[in-house]
Amino acid sequence: MNSYITHLECPRCGLQYSSDELHNLCSCGSPLFARYDLDAMSKVISPDDLGYRVHSLWRFKELLPVKRPENIISLSEGFTPVIQSQRIGPDIGLESLHFKDESNNPTGSFKARGLCLAVSKARELGVREICLPTAGNAGGAAAAYAARAGMKCHVFMPSDTPSLFSEECRAFGADVRMVDGFITDAARQMQEPMREHSWFDVSTLKEPYRVEGKKTILLEIAQQMNWHLPDVILFPTGGGTGIVGAWKACQELKQLGWVKRFKMPRLIAVQAAGCAPIVRAYEQGADTATEWEHPQTTSWGLRVPKAIADFLILRAIRESNGLAIAVDEESTAQARTEAAAKEGMWIAPEAAAAIAALKDLVGKGIVKQRENVVLLVTGSGLKYVQN
Ligand SMILES: *Cc1c(COP(=O)(O)O)cnc(C)c1O
Ligand SMILES: [Zn+2]
Repeated sequence: MNSYITHLECPRCGLQYSSDELHNLCSCGSPLFARYDLDAMSKVISPDDLGYRVHSLWRFKELLPVKRPENIISLSEGFTPVIQSQRIGPDIGLESLHFKDESNNPTGSFKARGLCLAVSKARELGVREICLPTAGNAGGAAAAYAARAGMKCHVFMPSDTPSLFSEECRAFGADVRMVDGFITDAARQMQEPMREHSWFDVSTLKEPYRVEGKKTILLEIAQQMNWHLPDVILFPTGGGTGIVGAWKACQELKQLGWVKRFKMPRLIAVQAAGCAPIVRAYEQGADTATEWEHPQTTSWGLRVPKAIADFLILRAIRESNGLAIAVDEESTAQARTEAAAKEGMWIAPEAAAAIAALKDLVGKGIVKQRENVVLLVTGSGLKYVQN
């Protein structure tokens, strides 16, 4: 058996949909989640079966939505290393800090996981052309997987994004359109041509499968820690597929009974002070987030003024006893320099923001020195050159 997927379900209103047809959002406007027959699966598969499998996220194929193996479009994504911190952790007194290094993915960021799943499942359901707005990394990943699948890809990107991001998309043969403004403006510009040409929308959480790819980060962490979970995980958060995917994976792992002495990790969302809609909503005790006015940060993946999954991000944070925190540009730049100098890792600024946040939280005693901490290094620093 490959996939144990049974259907799609709305986490807000509970409506169900077929996973054999194309769907974007629920009729109520919420993202949709893939559901699996976890009871049947737990009777057939145990964590011990997973050790000798393919070195990519496809080792978790039963928990992924693609039904026929020939529809899998893979560049060997996932299976990224967990690297022990050499100096940043010890310097701030943390006993156990590990980096999940997502820069090892195809196109250099964790976006590969999500777009690999979105493109593979879209292909299974007969899609020929996809489109998405992007802050940079999602566009490159979508373009790469679309090229490999023989699909056409239309990318809408803010015009001030560093040029390597658009060059990369064009190299993969994508149709790239530069838009004045932010990712929200790029999304608005996309609507008319998308409807006119019936492109399939693979925007963050507007189709159900990018989050399925992202959830494999948490499955890998569990396996890499011998089926234990860390106490705290930090996620640089923009659209929220990373943190929502991890939260969903935790629920599935709990139901499967694969984790020893299951305890929900505290999920921490990190945003930039110049664009922190989730942090503001978290601090106000709100269930949804209002759009951030005049977003300003060069952590491009965090420059998301409005996230469609805001209510799911906030639920993931609160139900896991986590929190949301914002960091300024200067602390992020410092942390980025420090990661290169102290760890030998030239990381994306979004990930550096998470390091800056962690230092703040340990300093305030909110993350304790004895806690096991995993920090998501979401991407490589190589594409972020301004020229
Ligand atoms: C997209 C992106 C993020 C934000 O991830 P979400 O899943 O959208 O919250 C963080 N870091 C990098 C490098 C990214 O490309
Ligand atoms: Zn609904």
